[in-house]
Amino acid sequence: MIATFAPKYDVDACLEEIRECLEKGWTGTGFKTAEFEEKWKEYTGLPNAHFLCSATAGLNMAVRILKEQNGWEDDAEIISTPITFVATNNAVLVNKLKIVFADVDDTLCLDPDDVERRITDKTKAVIFVGLGGNTGHYDKIAALCQKHGLKLILDAAHMAGTRYKGEIPGKEADAVVYSYHVTKPLSTADSGMLCFKEKQYDDLARKMSWNGMDKTSSPAKYDRHYRWKINVPCVADAYNGNSIMAAIALAQLPHLDEENAYRRRLVEWYEEELRGFAPVTLVEEPKECESARWLFQVLVEERDAIMEYMSEHGISCALHYLDNTEYPMYAHLHGTCPKAEYVSEHAISLPMHLGLERTDIAYICRTLKQYFEEKEQA
Ligand SMILES: *Cc1c(COP(=O)(O)O)cnc(C)c1O
Repeated sequence: MIATFAPKYDVDACLEEIRECLEKGWTGTGFKTAEFEEKWKEYTGLPNAHFLCSATAGLNMAVRILKEQNGWEDDAEIISTPITFVATNNAVLVNKLKIVFADVDDTLCLDPDDVERRITDKTKAVIFVGLGGNTGHYDKIAALCQKHGLKLILDAAHMAGTRYKGEIPGKEADAVVYSYHVTKPLSTADSGMLCFKEKQYDDLARKMSWNGMDKTSSPAKYDRHYRWKINVPCVADAYNGNSIMAAIALAQLPHLDEENAYRRRLVEWYEEELRGFAPVTLVEEPKECESARWLFQVLVEERDAIMEYMSEHGISCALHYLDNTEYPMYAHLHGTCPKAEYVSEHAISLPMHLGLERTDIAYICRTLKQYFEEKEQA
């Protein structure tokens, strides 16, 4: 079976980094997490980076801090996409804010024109998801946010290493959130990064990320005997990342650009095979986008039957994503984004990982074409 995803690790480098944690006797937050935060800031050029247990944690905390610090009421609206992993939109709901969906365009990311149409006097922020690593029309969305005074969160869960016009995007966003989930580019097991633009928000996130324990309030600075007396100024979750995950991330980071370049090579092979084949629609990407290419998606009729057919031929495919209005908590918004509904019914993610070779891509594309040929003959 050809897998949809298959993470790859530099095993020796990972073990060496992890060994350092074990020998030092520290696997928790600190040590390697701090080292990886520095490396990530250097790599991305973003001013702040706080390492967490997941991107979900990062999104939840980004929305929470922006809400509390800007005094948003519970009827405040955040515009987002229905074509995403639920964690994106759940971050709005867990923070008791209102979600408003805007439709996607041919990049399968938020359509800037539709976003602008959905802005009301209650709108406070936009969450942009770079689907599959694609920057879509992120630059236009950033300009819109600037024009309307809206906060911008970039859900960069698929975008580790994505560049736009040669630079890592996100410098204008109020928060950028990365995932280092096992299947994502730069795989660890579970971890993520929250990069706030404002230093003061990064400071708050650091105070909040481990059950709200304000380590900076420790009187230890003044009196060693009271080291254990730490203030807890707010109720918060355990969102902190640990040194084992950071150790794996540190071992993986030096390979990221080369691996993403190979992912783009796989896409070139896919597109060579499929371009001009009428039953398959390719997804658009801006010319200046150098995508991390977590996904290779195409749009097809009879998607579910094709999924089955591919599976019968030893190829595991996937869907990114089911239109979120199919879930009960977003069902009231069903029918507001027709293009997203179309994508949800027609998109298929073909296998995309570093273990694939040109012959695999040829086989996958031949099988996909064969489905249509057999149908014609039947
Ligand atoms: C994977 C993903 C997340 C969540 O990432 P975790 O690190 O698993 O919490 C958030 N947003 C999007 C778009 C994702 O694909």
